[in-house]
Amino acid sequence: MPEVHIADHPLIKHKLSLMRKKDAPTAKFRQLLNEISMLLGYEVTRDLKLEDVEIETPIQTMMAPRLAGKKLVLISILRAGNGLLEGMLDLIPSARVGHVGLYRDPKTLVAVEYYFKVPEDLSDRPVLALDPMLATGNSAVAAVQRIKEAGARNIKMVCLLAAPEGIETFHAAHPDVPIYTAALDSHLNDHGYIVPGLGDAGDRIYGTK
Ligand code: URA
Repeated sequence: MPEVHIADHPLIKHKLSLMRKKDAPTAKFRQLLNEISMLLGYEVTRDLKLEDVEIETPIQTMMAPRLAGKKLVLISILRAGNGLLEGMLDLIPSARVGHVGLYRDPKTLVAVEYYFKVPEDLSDRPVLALDPMLATGNSAVAAVQRIKEAGARNIKMVCLLAAPEGIETFHAAHPDVPIYTAALDSHLNDHGYIVPGLGDAGDRIYGTK
């Protein structure tokens, strides 16, 4: 069974329903995506390692927990991944950031790379790959493949909506990478869009249609 975490927080569900509405204005859509990103970020970072360090409160010294190891890396799968990135950065401001640029060939729906820039030392950092829509899964599969080739060994895939087809394709290629999503939708339509979905995430984030 693929490791798929579907967020069950009422705030996430409520905000997602507002985002799905076709008449949600761009500013509202973006704001809701930011808010959901933070909530998803909270869920997906639950297992980050901690270490105790000595600190001084105004009252006395104590051993206090802080995040252990190297800083986390957020990798946005362009361009819609940037929509998830903003909220995550609000939550984890010291995270390192990478970008992977892929476009979907409209005929074959296969992912083609046009940009790749990630922090150099990925091997001992937790990596969150961000793409709001896990539809066919082709872009996510290709992006995570490149992220692995760049050295990452501890990767989680974070999305807003996933289709069963995308989960299957992604899991077949990357069984070691757990998927975190706000919701699992019904299926893909003939154009590769998630049903019921929310339309084209990039267009809705940036108001390009
Ligand atoms: N990409 C999107 O933005 N929306 C979908 O439904 C599928 C892929």
